[in-house]
This record gives sequence, C-alpha cells and structure tokens, in this order.
Amino acid sequence: MVSGDFAVPSDVLTCPVLVLNRVFEPVQLTTAKRGFVLLYGGAAQALDEEGESLDFDRWRTLPVRDDDDALPIVGGSLRVPRVLHLSRYDRTPRAAVRLTRRNLMMRDGHQCQYCNKRPPVRDLNIDHVVPRSRGGADTWENLVTACRTCNLRKGWKTPEEANMRLARRPFRPRWSMSAQILLFTPHRFKEWEPFLKELSAA
Ligand SMILES: [Zn+2]
Repeated sequence: MVSGDFAVPSDVLTCPVLVLNRVFEPVQLTTAKRGFVLLYGGAAQALDEEGESLDFDRWRTLPVRDDDDALPIVGGSLRVPRVLHLSRYDRTPRAAVRLTRRNLMMRDGHQCQYCNKRPPVRDLNIDHVVPRSRGGADTWENLVTACRTCNLRKGWKTPEEANMRLARRPFRPRWSMSAQILLFTPHRFKEWEPFLKELSAA
C-alpha cells in the first residue's frame, strides 16, 4: 500500500485511561478510544507530564515518547493520554461493589469476624450470621468472613445462640473509585498514582 497502513492496533484503543472530575478525583477508567472522543469533543482535557490540562489542539502537538502508546494518524502519531480531566464535572461517584466471596473478605480485611484471627485465605469461609436454614439471606448485612474453626463452632446457630460475638456489624461497602482501581486493576500507569488514594479512605 502506497499511502501507508493506518490500521490501528486494537490494544492501543483499549488502553485504559484514568478520568478525573473537576477536583482531580478519579471518576472512572475508560478506554483510549472513548478518551479521544472526550478529548476531541472538548468534554475533557488531557494531563501532560507537568500536570497541565491540554485541549485536543495542544495535545496533538506533543511528541510521542518511548514509553507512550500512540495512535497512528495522517502525518504522524498521536500520544495516548493516561489521565483525562473533566473540568466541568463535579460529582464523585462511588462504585457499586459486587457481592462476592472475594469482596466480602476484602471488606472484612481477611479477618475472622468472630475471633479476629487472620488465617491464610484458604482457611477462611463465608458465614451466614443468621443461618440460611433459618431464613438468613445472602446479603452484605448477613454475610461475614469466618475462620474454619469459628464457622464449625457456630454451625446452624445464630451468634447469640452460639455465644459468639461479631467484631462489627456487617455492612454494604461503598468504595471510592480510587479504592476500586487500587484493588482490581493490577496494571496501573505511573501517571495515575498521584490521583489514587490509599484504601483507608474507602
Ligand atoms: Zn475465627
């Protein structure tokens, strides 16, 4: 082909991009493809290495460095932004957390909610506070992490009947987007780090 091949490697367009709200809090991860739509349409600016917000016309003039992902365009290539800034978006969304075994254990800090021990994960179970056989539901409020020993000891009893006390009342977690990203996104770009808060804020 004389004109050059502009087929875009699909992994460039699916590259994750961190999106921040007006006050630079994480709102979501999106794809480079969607990120370019936001940037090109003016809804977002891209942050450069100095932390400056650039609109599309300024962004397109930036050189592509060695560790950048780049989109081939006519006459050159376009650096894929790592962080986008929505300068007119004020909300701080909280992520809905799925009720799974893994998330329950994460909520409880991998700690038995009856004896407070922290055995290896393989020795942890999920305990129904009010047992299923007694009408206990599969909900955040009725499920806790328990070690094997406590789980066996409690059996089909309620905590009161078993004379066991919960370390704290189980609850539905509301993790910030930062926390979600830190927990579930193993590959994170270094450009994201300044915007991701530690989990204690969850
Ligand atoms: Zn225990």
